[in-house]
Amino acid sequence: MTIELLNDKSVRQSYEADASGVRLLPEFVARPDSVEEVVEVMRRARSDNLPVTCAGAQSSTTAASITDRGILLSLRGLDTISDIDERGRTIRVGPGVFVADVKRTAATAGLLFAPDPTSEEESTIGGAIACNASGARTYKYGATRRYVQALTVVMANGEVKEFRRPNLEKNTVGYAFAHDPIDWFIGSEGTLGIVVDAELSLLPLPSEVIGLALFFATEEEALRFVIAARENRDVSPRCIEYFDNLALEIARQSPTGSTLPANANGMVYVEEEVLHDAHITLDRWAEFVGESSEIEPLVFQGEAKLREARQFRHSIPATMNERGGRHREAGGRKVSTDWAVPYRRLPEAIAIARRFSREAGVAQSVIYGHAGNGHPHQNFIARDSAELSTIEGVVEQTLQRVLSLGGTVAAEHGIGKIKRRWLPLQMNALQIAMMTAVKKQLDPQHLLAPGNIL
Ligand SMILES: Cc1cc2nc3c(=O)[nH]c(=O)nc-3n(C[C@H](O)[C@H](O)[C@H](O)COP(=O)(O)OP(=O)(O)OC[C@H]3O[C@@H](n4cnc5c(N)ncnc54)[C@H](O)[C@@H]3O)c2cc1C
Repeated sequence: MTIELLNDKSVRQSYEADASGVRLLPEFVARPDSVEEVVEVMRRARSDNLPVTCAGAQSSTTAASITDRGILLSLRGLDTISDIDERGRTIRVGPGVFVADVKRTAATAGLLFAPDPTSEEESTIGGAIACNASGARTYKYGATRRYVQALTVVMANGEVKEFRRPNLEKNTVGYAFAHDPIDWFIGSEGTLGIVVDAELSLLPLPSEVIGLALFFATEEEALRFVIAARENRDVSPRCIEYFDNLALEIARQSPTGSTLPANANGMVYVEEEVLHDAHITLDRWAEFVGESSEIEPLVFQGEAKLREARQFRHSIPATMNERGGRHREAGGRKVSTDWAVPYRRLPEAIAIARRFSREAGVAQSVIYGHAGNGHPHQNFIARDSAELSTIEGVVEQTLQRVLSLGGTVAAEHGIGKIKRRWLPLQMNALQIAMMTAVKKQLDPQHLLAPGNIL
């Protein structure tokens, strides 16, 4: 068996872009269909000293899955769902399986794969593991890491290793970061090893879920409501999402968004699992919402309706990506932020972020996302390279303040290449040295995903 390293320009061009707006043309492309072929690529890369950057579906917003150095390794061909253990609630999948397909397969067995990136129809399990992807429902269920039980990894030296989570309830052996080596690979953005197989844990599928869209006259009222919803004991949402007036404007134009009211300037979208009776769930919400919103809410009941809500939610990043793409020739693009703060600081953080863009004369950004986790996405459109550099200045200023509020510069999309310069804002020299030491140990030739994170 000899796997081809493709260098035809049109093939290489089909892998030069992800969702970051950046383009990097790889020198070679490899499209393995088996673990053995991945090993072969890694061995050849090692002997020819060629870097290897993994790609799933290339929905990364940080240029993590594109490269102009060496081999772009597409893992899409490893797309088998090999085993579902209904009683043990696990599923084994190849890295190239789409997240939504894992969810659909699990659902046929009455089970739920909980991580739910908005991009689930266009992103793979390998990418979700490598970025520790999360989503709206991470508010209740947690991020991908929690659901990874075992990984098969092709290491930088071509060895194949299996890592299994020990799930010990007690353990005092050695440094905590070495307890579960599996955790080194989750969120490592392809820099420490190539995931070729994963065993994921599943939850029981909720029998019914209700979605509620609540509308507010101002951003301040909507954000106050987010904090109240998080702290109230009578409601137990699985997500608390916020949409500002511009995000709502985009959502209204999506095929499923025409019922969103015109007079709202902010929307909070929540979902809750129905434990006993849908009416009881709705009554609790009605009582809690009380007079805090004067606009009639929308109720999303049943799978089809919930899908509609996901569609208008997804239209926001998708539209912003498309708008950013229009300015590529002039050196512009969409600039997306992924910062998060402790949830009570969210209103303050958003007000500061808006003030910084106003002061720099930048057009109002679109703000939407995982408010329940203190994690909004703030998206700008840079129309040319000059505007891009002004916006990046605003983002950096915002990130400094986010950190002073106890936040993080990247809560779910990772660092990739375009956020690398912000890593030292958050991590001190010792933390970066520790990460560099792990990288050196696992990938001494620095072959894997050069430019990502470090
Ligand atoms: C419209 C839109 C909405 C989004 N919404 C969310 C969201 O709600 N939550 C969220 O977390 N993210 C979101 N994202 C970001 C992105 O979809 C996620 O990071 C996703 O998990 C990436 O998966 P992918 O298959 O596209 O990976 P890619 O973009 O191909 O790769 C991402 C990273 O994973 C590495 N990688 C891929 N496969 C492997 C492998 N087998 N082994 C080792 N490393 C590998 C790559 O090298 C790269 O570093 C969104 C993106 C878009 C465009």
